[in-house]
Amino acid sequence: MGEKFGTCMECDEEIPYDSEQCPECGLDGCPVAYRWYREDHEPDIIVAREGDDPELLANLLFTAWYDAGSLPDYYVMSEVNEELLSVYREHKMYERLIFHLCQGILDNVTEDWMYVEEALALSKDIGREDLELYVYEQIDGFNWTVYKKSPPEHITARKEEIRAKIKAGELGQFDPHLAPDMWTEI
Ligand SMILES: [Zn+2]
Repeated sequence: MGEKFGTCMECDEEIPYDSEQCPECGLDGCPVAYRWYREDHEPDIIVAREGDDPELLANLLFTAWYDAGSLPDYYVMSEVNEELLSVYREHKMYERLIFHLCQGILDNVTEDWMYVEEALALSKDIGREDLELYVYEQIDGFNWTVYKKSPPEHITARKEEIRAKIKAGELGQFDPHLAPDMWTEI
């Protein structure tokens, strides 16, 4: 049998699976994409998929997704991202789902607009005005940062309407911050 190869998560070259440093681009410390995930995360995730604790599965997937983003290992990120979204959708974990659907535009990845549209439609469907406001704020933040574009008047009015309810104490504020333990601290 020949040597096992994998893809470098930085330069996409095929390199020996056990490389500690990429011979092509020099990326240090376990440069093969997926390797850290397969070894450290996937075994628990496989067990959790078979179990009946969706929150545990969501937490494990979220940790893997977060770690993938820190490396960054885009191969793992996109794979885990899809599974994470489907666990959130299936088990109606609305706050996590809406936060996650908006992640793409926080990184200025514009092709994720369909996710943001899903987030906005969902927040309205379930009547969660706090989540609706959060989605508007992400959209407006993106448009302002990238295009110096302000929101249309009806959206500004809608945001003010929801903010007034928060101020009056009728509604909580949804203001999560990305952190490895953001969903487990609660
Ligand atoms: Zn490389």
